[in-house]
Amino acid sequence: MTKVISIIDSKKHVGEKVKIGAWVANKSGKGKILFLQFRDGTAFFQGVVVKNEVGEEMFQTAKSLTQETSVWVTGVIREDTRSKFGYEIGIEAIEVVGTSAEYPITPKEHGTDFLMDHRHLWLRSRKQHAVMQVRNEIIRATYEFYNKEGFVKMDSPILTGTAAEGTTDLFETDYFGRPAYLAQTGQLYAEAGAMAFGKVFTFGPTFRAEKSKTRRHLTEFWMIEPEMAFTTHEESLVVQERYVAFLVQSVLDNCDYALDVLERDKELLKSYTQLPFPRISYDDAIELLQKNGFDDIVWGDDFGSPHETFIANSFSKPVFILNYPKAIKAFYMKPHPTRDDVVICADLIAPEGYGEIIGGSERATDVEYLEEKIKEEGLNQEDYEWYLDLRRYGSVPHSGFGLGLERMVTWISGNEHIREAIPFPRMLHRIFP
Ligand code: ATP
Ligand code: MG
Ligand code: MG
Ligand code: MG
Repeated sequence: MTKVISIIDSKKHVGEKVKIGAWVANKSGKGKILFLQFRDGTAFFQGVVVKNEVGEEMFQTAKSLTQETSVWVTGVIREDTRSKFGYEIGIEAIEVVGTSAEYPITPKEHGTDFLMDHRHLWLRSRKQHAVMQVRNEIIRATYEFYNKEGFVKMDSPILTGTAAEGTTDLFETDYFGRPAYLAQTGQLYAEAGAMAFGKVFTFGPTFRAEKSKTRRHLTEFWMIEPEMAFTTHEESLVVQERYVAFLVQSVLDNCDYALDVLERDKELLKSYTQLPFPRISYDDAIELLQKNGFDDIVWGDDFGSPHETFIANSFSKPVFILNYPKAIKAFYMKPHPTRDDVVICADLIAPEGYGEIIGGSERATDVEYLEEKIKEEGLNQEDYEWYLDLRRYGSVPHSGFGLGLERMVTWISGNEHIREAIPFPRMLHRIFP
């Protein structure tokens, strides 16, 4: 029996006769030779059909294959330096598994709306395949990193009884007659986890009813939220930069072909693995912007995308912006020990205009301070008693952060828009397919 292999493993089978289950991606050639491009989900590959070798009937079958027809291909793998894949299969037999009607996505250019409407098919394309490989690698490397560092993976609930960070941007749903909300973050639960297990990370979907249309916001996105007991913010920053550098290096090590497809500059990516990342205070960042003609921003404002882009471009590396005004950050952040107006926190801004990828902070431990903040935010203290308990029973300094998976994927892939970083994106006007 001929051995069944995946395309990705073809180089281990040079000279052997193998069988591959695949879809036809493209077809070219004329006369007596036909080139077929296949994909099987692991990679793309070229097959060659020579009329004199396979005979008239098989050659006609090959010629009649339409895009996305599924087939079993049998043949011998050979090295071919001229082919962009490095290897090809000399086809001996083709067996059609499922025919394909006229395929809507052709190699020609399509508009974004059209492609988004056909996302279930668009995912089959070479570029989308490459982006999903990068996403998969970042997920894999995340588990590797935190497992090695002794973190416990802890799942936080998706359905929650209260708002974690305030009530704007919340998706509300009915929970047996009472309101419930889709989690915006796993943060507060991760803190409970850190008090129970020391070092934890949550990794799950989070939801925000983002009503603005930007290139960086989804309404459903995945977040990795590490939380560490007995850890200062300074120590957390070191974990953050080591983690981000590890993700970049892992993609460089394991997604070489995908990065080629995405035409991503690997030397540039490599430069992002050099640590430490530069830091700038919020105060200095405001001053930097004002000195450079941004008269639309004053101390106290949150940065918009042009601001973040300008700051990041001033460093050409991921950059930490430290100690934001208290008023624009979440209630649980630790107030600065010597300044009343800022909290101990940082955002990590990606280079090349990809914006904020991490938000992190040291957490407030003072119960009275937290009670005050909860009141100020208009939240119901009763709902947060469990959270305040974490301070009542053996409170310790602790810090953590959240990294947006799709922001990271978008940056590493060099994509313009976040919608391509998740298989089925959810945005203001998009909940289908
Ligand atoms: P932004 O300022 O870009 O709106 P944020 O400060 O509201 O982000 P955080 O609450 O700090 O976001 O969430 C932590 C991380 O989650 C962000 O640094 C970002 O990587 C990611 N993130 C936040 N909102 C979104 C979103 N709507 N879509 C995709 N990723 C997001
Ligand atoms: Mg936001
Ligand atoms: Mg922000
Ligand atoms: Mg943030």
